[in-house]
Amino acid sequence: MQLADGSKVDLVINKGIITSIESATNSGDYDMGGLVALPGFVDLHTHLREPGFEASETVLTGSRAAASGGYTAVFAMANTQPVADNAGVVTQVYELGRKAGLVEVRPVGAITKNLEGQELAHLGGMAGSKAKVNLFSDDGHCVSDAALMKTAMEYLKPLGGTIAQHAQEPSLTRGSQVNEGEISRITGLKGWPSSAEESIILRDILLSGQTGCPLHICHVTSQLGVELIRWGKQRGFPVTAEVTPHHLMLTELSAQNYDTRYKVNPPLRTREDSEALIEGLVDGTLDVIGTDHAPHASDLKDQEWESAAFGMTGLEQAYQVAHKVLISSGRSDWKRLQEVLSSKPAQIGGLDNHGSIEIGKQANLAIVNPEKTSLIEGNRYSKSSNNPYVGMQFDSEVVHTIFGGNFTYKNNEVVK
Ligand SMILES: [Zn+2]
Ligand SMILES: [Zn+2]
Repeated sequence: MQLADGSKVDLVINKGIITSIESATNSGDYDMGGLVALPGFVDLHTHLREPGFEASETVLTGSRAAASGGYTAVFAMANTQPVADNAGVVTQVYELGRKAGLVEVRPVGAITKNLEGQELAHLGGMAGSKAKVNLFSDDGHCVSDAALMKTAMEYLKPLGGTIAQHAQEPSLTRGSQVNEGEISRITGLKGWPSSAEESIILRDILLSGQTGCPLHICHVTSQLGVELIRWGKQRGFPVTAEVTPHHLMLTELSAQNYDTRYKVNPPLRTREDSEALIEGLVDGTLDVIGTDHAPHASDLKDQEWESAAFGMTGLEQAYQVAHKVLISSGRSDWKRLQEVLSSKPAQIGGLDNHGSIEIGKQANLAIVNPEKTSLIEGNRYSKSSNNPYVGMQFDSEVVHTIFGGNFTYKNNEVVK
């Protein structure tokens, strides 16, 4: 098979470990001619909904969706019920992931108790638990109190933790529904200014620079947000950032017919914004694609716009979107695609067994067909159907996923 650098190789996998990488002879057990092997994808931003919201997704169904998308590791956000703000819940999620056995499930710990933004959660207890939590986020909510955020950073720095912030100044977004601008004028829905996001991004870059605690900015959506991150990195601050597949590919105009599949937090922005996001992803300002896979049972989406839930699924199509915006467009290459979907998120998440194809490392692979046209009919494995890509066509797809040396997705079907 072919690697991202264009070389053609045969891989030998023994007991889950890559034991040899040699020039191709096509004598292996599986002839992967024409396919491209990438290190398995890593998602720093997934909502698996269990415990508490099993009608929308479970660790098992979300793991199946992930495996079908080429993922071998996902970080599960903490906004479950009960909230993953203590060692007990993060250990429960970790064990559910091991039981599902399709991807490595790494629980994200809440920064504040019950995501209330008032008091720090048991950060040390979660870091020291069996789940070894190293990424902390109140995602879904912003830690809006600057002093509390600074304290969390000071506490996590010596523990080796990373803060992932959902940047949304709450006083600027009360009742907000769609991007503030053309779409809020067309629909009459309350606007959501990008400054609500940018002001928190800037504040937290400054706090990260001061405390030295790594900051990961979730789902950046605007041109100015990208510029602020570029500035923070130029200053040498320990800042990384993510962009979602939907903010790369879709714009606010998707919401003009009040189709609630396009209701998402943060909202879809303008074409200029998505262009700036792609540019930032290509030039390295944005480090990773994180899906923000947010499944919702149909009754939560089949409502009037203002009462419908925020969020869209992403695990099953993230690779296809990445391929479209980076490779089909001619704007970048396989090396960059591998970085944003695998190597860089593995590095930020501290996953030594993921992110590269190397002798001695666990065999975690996403094997893709670079020239296969497919029409999206809906989610195949997620329990929810809020997929924003239905009806769209992509020109590449995941064919197999290998996790720990075993097929979890084989010939376009999840293995269990
Ligand atoms: Zn979020
Ligand atoms: Zn999220």
